[in-house]
Amino acid sequence: MTQQAREAILPGATIGILGGGQLGRMMAMAARSLGYRIQVMDPDPACPARPVVDACFEAGWNDALTSAYMARGCDVVTLEIEQISIECLDAASRFAPVRPGAALLTVIQDRIDQKNWLVKHGFPVGDFRAVRSLEELQTAVRELGGRCYLKSATGGYDGRGQAKVGFTGEASEEEIRQAWQDVGACACIAEKALELDKEVSVMVARSPSGETKAFPAALNHHENQILVWSVIPAPIAETLATQAKQIAEEIADTFALEGLLAVEMFVTRDGKLLVNELAPRPHNSYHASERACSTSQFEQAIRAVCDLPLGNVEVLRPAAIVNLLGDTWLHAAEEDRTPRFDEALAVPDVHLHLYEKAKPRKGRKMGHLSAIGATAEEAVARVLEAAKRL
Ligand code: ADP
Ligand code: MG
Repeated sequence: MTQQAREAILPGATIGILGGGQLGRMMAMAARSLGYRIQVMDPDPACPARPVVDACFEAGWNDALTSAYMARGCDVVTLEIEQISIECLDAASRFAPVRPGAALLTVIQDRIDQKNWLVKHGFPVGDFRAVRSLEELQTAVRELGGRCYLKSATGGYDGRGQAKVGFTGEASEEEIRQAWQDVGACACIAEKALELDKEVSVMVARSPSGETKAFPAALNHHENQILVWSVIPAPIAETLATQAKQIAEEIADTFALEGLLAVEMFVTRDGKLLVNELAPRPHNSYHASERACSTSQFEQAIRAVCDLPLGNVEVLRPAAIVNLLGDTWLHAAEEDRTPRFDEALAVPDVHLHLYEKAKPRKGRKMGHLSAIGATAEEAVARVLEAAKRL
């Protein structure tokens, strides 16, 4: 795609972020370094971004009035969560450009629309069915070979709003009914459970004037549908890494993306690369970009939405992260102590990133550890060793 003249929003301007979770926090910290002012909107007045922003508006994801109010004081508005209502985006866009915009968000917010969009534009995806009733689900499970992931069309994340069927023998009618109830008996998508070799992701940035840059692929390790650790660059065959990058760039260009887009992909045991899902914001699998790359995903997000030249995405040295879930805090509390951060930080080249969330809950992302290494394998080994010491 051809590049147009830039209309940069220069440092000193104010950036609004819809959502003040850890992604908003880390974006805000990058924006601060560049000299921007930042406002966020989040339902939680004690959200992770709060300590690092100029103003925090307490409001839910459907609060179009507050979204518009925040946007009035901003030069550009972006987001850190895709569950923001389209009404909020439209309301904000009356006062400031919203990047990424409502057209892309409308497609991404609904897993059915997202998958259909990918198919329509020729991107490779696994076998799936859109289901809107228990009967449709029963048919879908049969047609997809019996072993499936069921995901609610809207609202899920980190494995929430998901159920699995057929993993412990043939799926019975009862198991399917239970799965339907578990995801909320609403419109959802049934996906054939794929035999995975690996999971990778590619973060791509595109600016309003049309400059596009994709980071080298990350390799991601999930357990119970939650990301456990991730490393950049993915230690995978170069042809696969190139193919993954191309897919991400093509998706960004097809959407005429303004901002960031993370493309999660599956590598199946028979060597196919399939798109799993899209996230129009910074992504957990690119936290290591802060240490691995010349430009972090958070700075790239700011550069993209402000139409500044995109930063170099080259990997200077491999880096890995491991997520710290509330479970670590709960486990330590059982032993009447707090996590041993001092022990973890004694591992060479390990850094700690905490999101200042007050209440640890099972499965809640509280922070991460990062490490660099001479190789991707060494970075992963270090970060896992540090996590073990907590
Ligand atoms: P979330 O929005 O919670 O990240 P995902 O669709 O990415 O939801 O699913 C979370 C994880 O569950 C994936 O990263 C993968 O490990 C596993 N998973 C999801 N769908 C499939 C599938 N069709 N086949 C195999 N594994 C899957
Ligand atoms: Mg995912």
